[in-house]
Amino acid sequence: MGEAKQRGSQAERADQARARLEGMRPAQLVCGACKTAFSTFDAIDAPNLRGIDAVFGGQCPSCGNDVLVFKGEPQAVADAMVAWERMMGADTKLGYQSRDGKHVPFEEGK
Ligand SMILES: [Zn+2]
Repeated sequence: MGEAKQRGSQAERADQARARLEGMRPAQLVCGACKTAFSTFDAIDAPNLRGIDAVFGGQCPSCGNDVLVFKGEPQAVADAMVAWERMMGADTKLGYQSRDGKHVPFEEGK
């Protein structure tokens, strides 16, 4: 890990941002609908969500629902989930990442 170079090019900055995201990436997502765990998903750009460090999303291989997890301040995560649900409708299964890096599916109506 080289920490000396601070004046990175734009490509280097992008690499650093990607590395940072990869470091926050949970091992797997868990579908809130059918509880299937899967590890094929992407980091999603969410620069407009205040207090959110990262968003990861993918499609459940079992039931096809979109699964989305937010990582960040607990209150920001709660706000983001509500906002996203309003924006995207109920077809997206939301969740968040706990402190130990596990994905916790968001249970609706419970
Ligand atoms: Zn599913």
